Amino acid sequence: MIIVMKHHATADEIAGVVAHIESLGFQAHLSSGEERTIIGVIGDERPIEPEHFELLPGVERAVRILHPFKLASRDFHPDDSVVKINGVSVGTQQVIVMAGPCSVESREQLMETAAAVKEAGAHVLRGGAYKPRTSPYAFQGLGLKGLELLREARDELHLPVITEVMSPQDVTLVAQYADILQIGARNMQNFALLHAVGEIQKPVMLKRGLMATIEELLMAAEYILSHGNTRVMLCERGIRTFETATRNTFDINAIPVLKSLTHLPIIADPSHGTGKWELGTPSARAAVAAGADGLIVEVHGDPAHALSDGAQSLKPDKFAAMVAEARRVAQAVGRTI
Ligand code: PEP
Ligand code: MN
Repeated sequence: MIIVMKHHATADEIAGVVAHIESLGFQAHLSSGEERTIIGVIGDERPIEPEHFELLPGVERAVRILHPFKLASRDFHPDDSVVKINGVSVGTQQVIVMAGPCSVESREQLMETAAAVKEAGAHVLRGGAYKPRTSPYAFQGLGLKGLELLREARDELHLPVITEVMSPQDVTLVAQYADILQIGARNMQNFALLHAVGEIQKPVMLKRGLMATIEELLMAAEYILSHGNTRVMLCERGIRTFETATRNTFDINAIPVLKSLTHLPIIADPSHGTGKWELGTPSARAAVAAGADGLIVEVHGDPAHALSDGAQSLKPDKFAAMVAEARRVAQAVGRTI
């Protein structure tokens, strides 16, 4: 249930409603917008009728929320959330570009790629140190060594870093090196991991599962939010369908659907979304046109020899061209990159 306060509701009236909600055994979640304050009632409030709250001073109306996700819902928080990461804000009119290799492979590879993506206009460096691979015989990532290399690149180039964390035990360690923790598609419903990243105060980018509905993605985000971490971004990275021409089906629809349902920033991953480097740029353009708040793109200096995801990795010059094209689309829809 949400309680919409009157336009001129006083601080005392708002505090009175919060105290009343808490006296009933629920939690109150406050969202103060420019126009008015909205108070979310968290808990199983089904036995209580909205009219119950409408009698309280300063209340305009109380409305039941039909969605199962609450803290993630735009009903609870009508304004867009802005996630701040060391000087980079995600969820404003500026579209944020995250780019780098799928996996950190060596110092030379990371440093060269990081410098190139920065030069091309990327705001955040990506790179996997712990890799969720389909085959146990495939390259599994450099682990701690990869985190150290990411730290080196971050400090040298002043670029915030995003990297994946695969298990709850690694959250504290990865959080010491990363500015944003990535939860991979295969871990979207790893509830122990969602719980663990919910308890730290580091931005999290949650990727949509291979077979997950939009509602399941939002419920996974709800796990993180409900454990106290409010700095959550969602990522559309393609879903599995009957189509085999591409690695995944990049669900462009998900971007405006998510924008309507949630206040959380939405990042689009055209690399995993398509699995083919040559489809990255058209999909990135489409994602920006559809309202994505950011892009995450795989870039490699020598894709033919990449240790993971070479087929979908752009060479640095192609990535620079992608950013330029995405920038033109951003301008057409009233945004910048
Ligand atoms: C990745 O970002 O390299 C990755 C493994 O992504 P996903 O979890 O979307 O497959
Ligand atoms: Mn990858």
